[in-house]
Formats: sequence, structure tokens, C-alpha cells
Amino acid sequence: MYRILITNDDGIESPALEALEVALSTIGRITVVAPDRERSASSHGITLNQPVAYKQLAPNRFAVQGTPADCVISALRIFAKPPSLVISGVNMGSNIGSDILYSGTVAAASEAALQGIPAVAVSAHSRADYVSAAAVAARIAEQVLEHGLPPDVILNVNYPLRWNGEFRLTRQGRRAPEPLTDYEALAMGYVSISPLQINRTAHNHFEHFTGWTDQLGAVFTSDGV
Ligand code: MN
Repeated sequence: MYRILITNDDGIESPALEALEVALSTIGRITVVAPDRERSASSHGITLNQPVAYKQLAPNRFAVQGTPADCVISALRIFAKPPSLVISGVNMGSNIGSDILYSGTVAAASEAALQGIPAVAVSAHSRADYVSAAAVAARIAEQVLEHGLPPDVILNVNYPLRWNGEFRLTRQGRRAPEPLTDYEALAMGYVSISPLQINRTAHNHFEHFTGWTDQLGAVFTSDGV
């Protein structure tokens, strides 16, 4: 049976986290390791220079005094075997476009990917039916467990206010009218699935910097600095 780790940034008391737990319980053995309070918009922050405290609330339930990324790191320390999958959510509020930079929900999934574990971040519109969003998350979880994810790639899933029953593969948008973005998909009622990569190198823009290192180096050699 699969072992699935659930975390979030809304805190362990979030009803949307509980809905996710229920939806995933048919797929695998669930462990919840989540912040003891709301830590939304904590991005990829981690606790340094002091141990991260946690409290075991039940055999498979841990409340962590730390950020979502701390939760993933702590979970990997608590358990001998890493999980087959990490799901972060369901966040009560969309994480699209530049929200992704601030999101603790997405950061927890990113931390899992850094540690080599397939991971999915799931968010829902703040007034959406999060039980239905959790059911959608479970379907996507099954897909990931069956087919895997490329290394260093996570899925950022967003559930719309009123779902049209369909899914769209999207890219991170910047504003509403851009085509094929997370924004557009949600506005049209799709569940948006954006593959995000952890490595942020701007591969398409190396040309812009051609000659820069020679020019920078020349300043030092000619001035004798
Ligand atoms: Mn949140």
C-alpha cells in the first residue's frame, strides 16, 4: 500500500486538510504532518539554528511548530521510510500566477521534490467546494502514483469556484487574459494543473548574457585592479 504524507500551510485544524485526508484514505496509508497554526504566505522559509518542535496528536498525526517546508523536513526525520507521495493542501484560496512565489502550500511540495519525493500542491478557490477539490486531488494522486513525475517537477493544482468537470494543463500566468494559463483555466471553470520546476535557471535567456563574463573580466585585467 502507498504511504502518503499530507501537509498544508493553513494549519493542521483546516477542514480542507481533513477533507483531503478522507479522500486519500482509499489510496494509501495517510500521515499528516502539518503546521500547528496557519502559516499561509510563508513561502519556502525554514527554521534555522533551533530544533523544530512537534507534537504527536495521534499515531499518524503530527503538529509542527514551523513552516510547511519545516513539516516536510521534519516528517522525513520522524519516519524511517520516505513516503511515496507528498500532497500539500487543500489550500483554502487559489495559488496561481505570482501567488506561487509566496505560497507555503507550493513550497511544501517543492521541498518534497528537493528531497526526491513526488509532490502535488492543491489549492481551491476560497469559496469553492473543498470536499470536491479533495476528491479531484485524490484522482490526480492516483495518476502521479501510477505514472510518476519528472525529477524536480511538482504539480500545482487549482480547483475553481464552480468546476465544469474538466481538467486543463496550464502554465503559470501573470494576469487574467493570457491564454493557456492557470488564471484562464480557473476563470473558465477547469481544474488547472501546472507542472512547475524547482530549478529556476532561465534556460531561454542565456543569449542575452553573451559576452558579459568577458566584458566583466576585461575591466579587471585592463585596470590592473
Ligand atoms: Mn494557505
